Amino acid sequence: MQIEICYLCIIKLLVLKKVYLDNNATTPCDPRVVEAMLPYFYEHPGNAASRSHPFGWEAEDAVDIARQQIAELIGADEKEIIFTSGATEADNLALKGVFEMYSRKGNHIITATTEHKAVLDSCKKLEKLGAEITYLEVGSDGRVDLATLEAAIRPTTIVLSIMWANNETGVIQPIKEIGDICAKHGILFMSDATQAVGKIPVNPRENGVHLMAFSAHKMYGPKGVGALYVSRKDPRVKVTAQMDGGGHERGMRSGTLNVPGIVGFGKAAEIARLEMAKDAERVSKMRDRLELGLKNALEEVYINGNREHRMPHVTNMSFKHVEGEGLMMTFNQNIALSSGSACTSASLEPSYVLVALGLGDDLAHSSLRFSLGRFNTEEDVDFAIKSITEGVNHMRNLSPIWEMYKDGVDLNSIQWEAH
Ligand SMILES: *Cc1c(COP(=O)(O)O)cnc(C)c1O
Repeated sequence: MQIEICYLCIIKLLVLKKVYLDNNATTPCDPRVVEAMLPYFYEHPGNAASRSHPFGWEAEDAVDIARQQIAELIGADEKEIIFTSGATEADNLALKGVFEMYSRKGNHIITATTEHKAVLDSCKKLEKLGAEITYLEVGSDGRVDLATLEAAIRPTTIVLSIMWANNETGVIQPIKEIGDICAKHGILFMSDATQAVGKIPVNPRENGVHLMAFSAHKMYGPKGVGALYVSRKDPRVKVTAQMDGGGHERGMRSGTLNVPGIVGFGKAAEIARLEMAKDAERVSKMRDRLELGLKNALEEVYINGNREHRMPHVTNMSFKHVEGEGLMMTFNQNIALSSGSACTSASLEPSYVLVALGLGDDLAHSSLRFSLGRFNTEEDVDFAIKSITEGVNHMRNLSPIWEMYKDGVDLNSIQWEAH
């Protein structure tokens, strides 16, 4: 067989600058994490549940160390860490496990419309099994209203699930205040903290959080491993296992532990604990530089979501009268990021998170999510400002709507005709 080599493609690959600004989708694995993991593929192949030989003991010891590193990052006891395959599984285990375990107390769950699909779809499934769900709306800044939240609590409420920080906007919820309300009413507080752990200080106990989901690959660890924090005292929380088998993880999650993955997760947690403050400062400066650069270069640019209570590495911006997916095509060979449109089946739907903030379909479709990370540089940011400015100008120059806007036509007064 003859393999044709496309020299042009190779040259393109070599010289094309590629900038990764999609760290909320997943982060690169830190090389120090990879190095820590490697011995656990071949040199130490044991199953952490094999109690009868040194290979098993070595694996168990490695898992214990990782559990400690992760517990230390979030101020928990290591017995409160249940390993899972990721945050999706942890969200499922928390909600479905609590619903099953506490069914005698009630069947009502409170969550918000801007939660991750792993939470929303778990709630939808539970509705079919007899749960009653309240989906709280959020304000235009993306935060839940505490009075509305408290008013939604019923005698049958068992758990409230509100994420720590949103994956699309970076908006941080008033976690401590929500924790106080849950404590006052004696209900469980579950939080999906996948976007917050490892990037800002997160301590479930100090904030009244009883169950908390997070994931290694959002904090410079490997994909396919995550954890559910389950409070062991005041209150001692139990969840019904959703996976039946060998009774691993104190009976809450059966399945052979992903030893290399867990070792990497632990190393990522240790690095985060030591370097989080420095990383956050550096990354937030780059984020501010990006926002300022784009706002200075372009008209009609909007930042979505609360700007004060926001993750340091995220900005979600709308470029009015520019369609985000089309805009991305002007630079997506060079810059990786996400738009405010989601492909559901054949159509392009505006992001449900941005719609929940009250953005019209047009502003939601014209948005881009930039999520910076540990491995980005100022050079990356300047390259993004330049490419996106060019892309927006290009799209607007082709757009009759932009022309009308520039001519001072009131676009709301136009009756659009559907074809
Ligand atoms: C990425 C993400 C998840 C899913 O995590 P996985 O480990 O990929 O399953 C859940 N919640 C939030 C907020 C996320 O950002």
